[in-house]
Amino acid sequence: MFLGCVLLGVFLQACDSAPSPTAGPPAAATQSAPADEPVIDRQIRILLLDGLQSASIVVRDRFNLVDCQTGQILLADQDPQELSFTFTGRGIDVPELDVYLESGGVDVVPTGEQPTRIKLASQWKDFPGSVRMLPRRDGGAVINLVDIEDYLVSVVSAELPGSFHRETFRAQAIAARTYAWYARQTTGLRRDWDVWATEKSQVYAGLDRQRLAPQAVEAVRDTRGIVCTWSSPAGEKIFCTYFGSRCGGLTAPAFSPDGTPPIPPLAGGVVCPHCRRPDAYRWPQEPRISKWQMTERLAGRYSRFERLGRVEQVEVIESAADGRALRVAVSDAEGRTVELDGENFRLAVDPTGRVLQSTLFTVTVEPDAIVFTDGRGMGHGMGMCQYGADALARAGWSSPAILRYYYPGSRLTRAY
Ligand SMILES: [Zn+2]
Repeated sequence: MFLGCVLLGVFLQACDSAPSPTAGPPAAATQSAPADEPVIDRQIRILLLDGLQSASIVVRDRFNLVDCQTGQILLADQDPQELSFTFTGRGIDVPELDVYLESGGVDVVPTGEQPTRIKLASQWKDFPGSVRMLPRRDGGAVINLVDIEDYLVSVVSAELPGSFHRETFRAQAIAARTYAWYARQTTGLRRDWDVWATEKSQVYAGLDRQRLAPQAVEAVRDTRGIVCTWSSPAGEKIFCTYFGSRCGGLTAPAFSPDGTPPIPPLAGGVVCPHCRRPDAYRWPQEPRISKWQMTERLAGRYSRFERLGRVEQVEVIESAADGRALRVAVSDAEGRTVELDGENFRLAVDPTGRVLQSTLFTVTVEPDAIVFTDGRGMGHGMGMCQYGADALARAGWSSPAILRYYYPGSRLTRAY
């Protein structure tokens, strides 16, 4: 949560001065980086795959092979080639290079600009930066080490339709940068990577040129180094800039595992009439999930559900002001009941998140199924609403104004 004092002192520099909703982009957001900008480590570690026994990559430039624990170059200036890695408990085997490490992993560090091709779920994809092959207790992990600005171009391209407004792209670039930078400063300190490459964090598909949107390239470049912060009692702090597709009319408060109230920018309650387009607001269907399927999915996700028989009742026992389910009680025929958080219920019952699109629903119990009626919104509803942001951009709002609207009390700050 905290940016270090040194980082704050050296690198954070306020850069938006309360622009009006109709103002253009912030001056700093359109400036290129100053020539005397301090050199800082902007690397972000993205978990592409894990739980592997082996992995393959095609290195298309000359490269160094580096011991990722010690930083020692094991092999320098190798020819481009295809490599296979076998994870051997705590170590790694790279037969093409005749390298075997009993413990620890390796970094493949290209010395040129060519992206490295990595095999993901039987498909080859190009990735910038370096590739880390890391043995872990539960199998090997493939981690992409890349400059955060390159990472963001891919993320923003995946997040927004190409038809969205330029200011929406800018707001998205800043929100995505803040999210990743925050992850690096918090959860990233406690594990081997900063973000997942999936919806668990932000969708990242590498450097697939056909999927990179020119608007995303421009928005990332124009907002380079800019993040959202808020003035906490302990000083200016970066925060987790959640965002989602459609909030459904009112943003939700950020869920806090320890029950502490969310900080002002994430307190929710932002009225968003802007995503209420007929095709965007109400779900197209009333999802129907069989009681057996729900029983299996809940028990598969949470062991405390294993003591329940078939699910017979689902009841929303606590709702937010907008009707979002905050707490759900699930019972079997014997009256045994287990409660859980609404968002966790949604993702346990529908891991895709595409059927139960949010926790804005009404529960109807049928003899063999639970039916979710009156469904609205898409996603967790926290933070910036992308469709709402685009409506504001089209009404002439600037990206700083949009961000301040969805993260009340926040401001823009240059992190580097
Ligand atoms: Zn909205």
